[in-house]
Amino acid sequence: MHDELLRDAAARAAAYLDGIQTRAVAARPRDVDAVAAALGGALPEGPCDPADVLALLDGAGSPATVASAGPRYFGFVTGGTVPAALAANWLAAAWDQNGFSRASSPITAEIEEIALAWLVDLIGLPAGTGGAFVTGATMANFTGLAAARSKLLADAGWDVEAKGLFAAPPITVLVGAEAHSTLFKSLGLLGLGRERVVMVAADEEGRMRAEALPAITGPTIVCLQAGNVNSGAFDPAAEIIAQARQAGAWVHVDAAFGLWAAASPEQAHLFDGFAAADSWAGDAHKWLNVAYDSGLAFVRDAEALRRAMAISAAYLPQTARREPFAFTPESSRRARGIEVWAALRSLGRAGVAEMVARNCRQARRFAQALSDAGFAVLNEVALNQVVVAFGDEATTARIVEAVQDEGTCWCGATNWQGRAAMRISVSSWATTDADVERSLEAIVRVARANT
Ligand SMILES: *Cc1c(COP(=O)(O)O)cnc(C)c1O
Repeated sequence: MHDELLRDAAARAAAYLDGIQTRAVAARPRDVDAVAAALGGALPEGPCDPADVLALLDGAGSPATVASAGPRYFGFVTGGTVPAALAANWLAAAWDQNGFSRASSPITAEIEEIALAWLVDLIGLPAGTGGAFVTGATMANFTGLAAARSKLLADAGWDVEAKGLFAAPPITVLVGAEAHSTLFKSLGLLGLGRERVVMVAADEEGRMRAEALPAITGPTIVCLQAGNVNSGAFDPAAEIIAQARQAGAWVHVDAAFGLWAAASPEQAHLFDGFAAADSWAGDAHKWLNVAYDSGLAFVRDAEALRRAMAISAAYLPQTARREPFAFTPESSRRARGIEVWAALRSLGRAGVAEMVARNCRQARRFAQALSDAGFAVLNEVALNQVVVAFGDEATTARIVEAVQDEGTCWCGATNWQGRAAMRISVSSWATTDADVERSLEAIVRVARANT
């Protein structure tokens, strides 16, 4: 029974992936509208043949997807899934491993340790850095900041895990004016407050201004960014970290996609200085091109991370080896490190570097061609992000929508430095130069027809 069903699933998935080369990238409203009728209704009273369940899902679900696995999806800085990671994801789903502990899944604990060590090497983080596989950069920021909170307060004689934040010594949190919206959510979840942060002015590319950093006194977390979600710009890490270190502050880096710049010799200079921080958040489901959800948290002081995340229960073995549950906010969880391992094993150091460098070159091509066509590129294209305006706010909004409707490619709307704009994020392993030319032709044609 398994055999036939899984072969059917594999055949349908392969047909789906072939099909996204030629279909519209956006989901068609009529296909989305049809989902409720095909898949909804009352909860079935009795069982249904799994093969029929799959056929239903494929028939109504596949056309209603966003073709983000395809080569011309340029939204939200997310990538697709490299073949080895997709296949490993299927096998891991069959394994049904609970990544919680060594006892629940020794293989997951082993593979995650291997993948973490490879990542620390690839990114150039300090030896001994601890890490955790989490759902995304939001939770990775949460995880790194939880370690920061724990260490700073422990140093001030306060056990935050035991006592909470009420009556704790205050922690100052410095955040750049162009920090990602989810960073504030992570700070709020930790009781550090979304609004009690001290905002540090940023320049026209969204980089924190080093000279605007206030004097640091008392327990302080400085939140840096490696890769602004619009411009792709990196904060001046070397200058800021030197100041922060002197004052005993903890430096946390939101490097959701910028982390991967460090893996490409052509782009690695952008990450210069960041390895001197204390914690880093990254997304494997962005530029490493593995399936959602897959975020990465790294903490230089692995013991601070362990103190923030550890649990104790009589049924848990306290082994000498790394126990996954002692480093993550979650307990039972899927073994997402397996796909990270598979992507790294399949691409190798050179493969990751090639993907990052190619996507950056493709972003520069987008910027040059759109600028040549008379449109305003609003950012310095130093990485994989292109922010382009087509005129006033209404015109730009109309064109972004028309580009999505036309279907050759998908780019999202944004607002950059007070201007409505379209954002092109090139971060998929699948994007070829021919895809870029096809997308450019469509964007320019649609934009001209709408101005
Ligand atoms: C995408 C992103 C996030 C949030 O990541 P999720 O994986 O969606 O949680 C945070 N910061 C930056 C800079 C990002 O690009």
